[in-house]
Parts: sequence; structure tokens; C-alpha cells
Amino acid sequence: MRKVNKNLTQKPSSLSRPDLLDLLKKIEADKNLINTDIYRGKYKDEHTQIIREEVVEALEEIYHGKCAYCEQHTYTYIEHYRPKKRIINTHHGGYFWLCYEWSNLVPTCHECNKIGGGKGDKFPIKNKRSTYEDCLWEGKLDLQKCIANQPPLIDENPYLLHPEIDNPIDFLTFEIDSQYQGIALKGLDGHNERGEQTIEICNLNRKELLRKRQESVIYPILQNIKLAFGLLSNQKINTTQFQDLLFAEFEQLFQQVKELKLSFTLLRRTLIVSPSIFKSLVTAQLSDNQQEITQAFFESYFNSIHT
Ligand SMILES: [Zn+2]
Repeated sequence: MRKVNKNLTQKPSSLSRPDLLDLLKKIEADKNLINTDIYRGKYKDEHTQIIREEVVEALEEIYHGKCAYCEQHTYTYIEHYRPKKRIINTHHGGYFWLCYEWSNLVPTCHECNKIGGGKGDKFPIKNKRSTYEDCLWEGKLDLQKCIANQPPLIDENPYLLHPEIDNPIDFLTFEIDSQYQGIALKGLDGHNERGEQTIEICNLNRKELLRKRQESVIYPILQNIKLAFGLLSNQKINTTQFQDLLFAEFEQLFQQVKELKLSFTLLRRTLIVSPSIFKSLVTAQLSDNQQEITQAFFESYFNSIHT
């Protein structure tokens, strides 16, 4: 998960249609009237006559086609950050009045969002849960009170991080999972706090993700460093060329952090936060005789771009 910039008040047209309040009033009486076509923004392209989905297209552009939670490229399922029909382990009937609310819609993959094993209808909070009545003004739904970063919703203090409101790098870091030889997420803000809870809610340390983080981000760096060591020990390159190869590798890593279309941006970003994190996730996976030299070069590169 990474911080995403979305203008929360500039909605796609299907989410700001004039009859929205009337539609939500009907949904208050019958949640089965929640219409997938509206929150996916289905429309017919006048020129091509092809059915398209404006909300999906807008979210895919903002999130670069990635899942809001695990940051893998995915077919876009529209996830309601606050569940629309029920909330597991509560008597609350779900935030049905947010079913067409732009700040409540995020794109996810199937695995992060599925019931049983993924987020499903989970939405634990620290404070008092908001009701439909809390979001009314003079008997009518107040759309300003439906925005995720406004009271009363923000005052619920949800455990699940919101990628458009919270900055995940303040709550999450990574560590090596030696059991599955992968990279695991770890909460930064304390036991059972928002970081840990977010990992738990969306199952962000599932085995497949541990391995993919390692294979997509860490493994290519390790391979190139090992290749440089091989060339040096076979005297195909001298020590200056060896340093150039390692610096080129680090340069690429720093550049890739800016390429938001890549998967696992938070991991790439975390790797360059400090030499100690790079050491724990990358250098530690090299052989003993390669660790000291690699770490020294990384610190030298790191200092050169921070001075
Ligand atoms: Zn996902």
C-alpha cells in the first residue's frame, strides 16, 4: 500500500448524478437496490458503442492499474473501504449511504478483498461507529459528511489505513520472512495498531505476496550485485568498473521509486529510506564475503545523493 493522490471532491459523473439523494433514500429502505453499474460508472461510448466504466477507468488511472492494498497489477474490483451492506462482528448494517461515495471507492485485487482470507466485510474502528443519522443535515443526507477524511467518518478512527488519506510509509515497513524466503510487511506503530491491523485485515502477508515481493523487487538487485562480484573475481572488470556497476544498480533503484506504475512501490521506497533498511532486506541476503563491500558502497552512494 502506498499514498495515492486522489481529488476526493472531483467525482466521476455517475457518482454526482442529480438523482443521487433520491437513489440513496430508496437504498435506505432496501440495500438490494445498490447498483453495481452506478459505482463502476457504466456507460456506452457514443463513438464506438462499447460499454465502458468511468469510475473504474478513473481509479485505474489514479492507482496505475494496481490494487490499493497489495500494489500488484490487477483486474479492478471496486472495493468499498467502508463495507456497504454489513460489518463483520457487529450489529451495524453497513455504510449503505456510502455505496456511491468517491472517497469510499478504491480498486483492489480479488485476493485482498475476498470474504474469508481478505478484507471482505471487515472494518474495525477505535471509536464510535457512525450511523446514517450521523451523516444527515436537517433530515437529508449531507454529502460533505460522507467524505472519508471529514467528520463524523474520520472520527471513527479506523484501523484500516486509507491510501488516499493516510501515508502508509509512516505505519508499515518490511522484514525478511525466513520461513517462506520472502519479504513480509511489518507494522511500525505498535502491536495491534493500524499498521499491524491493516496487514491482518487484507491478509497482506499471504505466502504468495511474500514471494512476489522478493522475486519482483529484491531478487533482481541481488542478481546484479552477484554478477558484478563474479566479473570482479574473474578479473573481467577492475575495482573502478565494479563500483560503477554497483552504483548503476543503486541509481536504478532510486529511479524506480519514482515510477509509480511499477508494482510494490512502498517496498522500493522503503529500501532507500536508510542504509540500515537496505542492509536488512538486501545486503543480508548476500554471502558473508559480499556483505561488507556491498553495504559500504551502498552507504557511499546513499551519502553522495543526500549531501
Ligand atoms: Zn491486492
